[in-house]
Amino acid sequence: MRYVVVTGGVLSGLGKGVTASSMGVLLKSAGLRVTSIKIDPYLNVDAGTMSPFEHGEVFVLDDGGEVDLDLGNYERFLDVALTRDNNITTGKVYAAVVERERRGDYLGKTVQVIPHITNEIQEWIERVAHVPSDGDNGSPDVCVIELGGTVGDIESAPFVEALRQFQFRVGRENICFVHVSLVPVMGPVGEQKTKPTQHTVKELRGLGIIPDILVCRSAKPLQDETRAKLAAFCHVSEEAVVSAHDVSNIYRVPMMLEEQGVSGVLSGLFGFELPSERPLLDDWKAMADRVDNPAEEVHIATVGKYTGLSDSYLSVIKALQHSSYAVGRKLVIDWIESADLDDQTASADPEVHAAAWELLKGADGILVPGGFGIRGIEGKIKAAEYARKNDVPYLGVCLGLQVATIEFCRNVLDMEGANSTEFDEDTAHPAVVFMPEISKTHMGGTMRLGTKPTPFLVDDCKMRRLYGGADHVDERHRHRYEVNPELIEQIEEAGLKYVGKDETGQRCEIMELDGHPFFVGTQYHPEFKSRPGRPSPPFLGLLMAACGQEV
Ligand code: GLN
Repeated sequence: MRYVVVTGGVLSGLGKGVTASSMGVLLKSAGLRVTSIKIDPYLNVDAGTMSPFEHGEVFVLDDGGEVDLDLGNYERFLDVALTRDNNITTGKVYAAVVERERRGDYLGKTVQVIPHITNEIQEWIERVAHVPSDGDNGSPDVCVIELGGTVGDIESAPFVEALRQFQFRVGRENICFVHVSLVPVMGPVGEQKTKPTQHTVKELRGLGIIPDILVCRSAKPLQDETRAKLAAFCHVSEEAVVSAHDVSNIYRVPMMLEEQGVSGVLSGLFGFELPSERPLLDDWKAMADRVDNPAEEVHIATVGKYTGLSDSYLSVIKALQHSSYAVGRKLVIDWIESADLDDQTASADPEVHAAAWELLKGADGILVPGGFGIRGIEGKIKAAEYARKNDVPYLGVCLGLQVATIEFCRNVLDMEGANSTEFDEDTAHPAVVFMPEISKTHMGGTMRLGTKPTPFLVDDCKMRRLYGGADHVDERHRHRYEVNPELIEQIEEAGLKYVGKDETGQRCEIMELDGHPFFVGTQYHPEFKSRPGRPSPPFLGLLMAACGQEV
């Protein structure tokens, strides 16, 4: 087993995740089996309780793990399926050590950060690295480990120390340290400045880790003299100083690294042969070109409440993009803050309200993604109503299925004030209700989570066709509420059909409206399994319908 450890310096948000996953792509293109681990040095046990406003979306794995969105990048880049243990947090490590201490496993010893926490981290990494994630049996060959945060932070110190020790545990020849840094440009002549990188490398070396590869984020390609200077001051060979400059889309990053000889550096360090043909890289190049080719636009109005931070909807954006490549259109996402569609919202400014409606009406398709809490609900219900009545393609994901159901109950079945008990506990018409098995006292990890099978209940429908005629789908869930089982019959009789339900046949999973070009909802989150060359079927359906294609 070889390990590629990616750390970062100077500032956060340098794209360590994309760098790390691109290195994974290069290794995979050489025929190696690659898995990955993301380390998040925060005390939350997992990302499930973190606000998308602050931290971006919560990514959901097959096993129900609620993890950092970077795991989504790894799954999409490397086409793997990871487990909750592939995301290590300070909270998880401390919880494990404290539990052992209570069991008496440390035999009377004083339990300390070094060695107990650092040992726990190393054992965790070794254990998870060997778990296959690409669908085949047997151990992977390489594990790419990304350490979140910036080297030098108090938070990440135990992890840096654990990784320092780890090189002796697994052998220096089996580990490659990659440090991602920033090269800013100053002054009118645009001089590339190396000092921040010199400092962060000094810091890293002071902690006992000597980087083998230096990846330098910059606006323009690194100049030769900058590279030479960095090599000299940072004690890295010139060929291992890599420029990660801005490119037109992220699919170009693996090729950008490849063209600078990174595969050669890795094969030299680890001692593996590079095959002469690497078709995976051709696929990446083709994908990057396809993404850049400007074509006709398709506008998807996305009605949500975290629209200020696009990371809050990262997987939804990716799923839309993947589908747009498949239909050959340039995707434009028109973000609409759902509260702006609601004229009852006290703070509503008439101009903002009008602008939001103009955007909605101008779109080729409407998407209502998942969400929690009452804010903006009425606006989402209005968006679903507009789509239903005007034959505009609509995809509702999780909450989006629920609001479409509420709207249908209110306006087609005349159930005045129909609502979800999440938003109105005393509603006369509970269209969406709390699921009986869910905890009301604990928030973390207690939803209906992870991959569950959804059998189709009809022989033919749009969604079944989109899923290639499959008899069931395996998609990922994250919710506490469901369509009220007592109303299903009534709703279906009026034309909104639940064509897929869970194995018990009770719980609504896939919704389709009769006689509408594309009015679809899923209780699960299909976005998490979308891949660049294999777009998520419901999203593809939305894009096809938005382009006027029959689904
Ligand atoms: N808030 C809703 C529920 O808990 C929807 C959740 C979601 O969209 N992920 O059921």
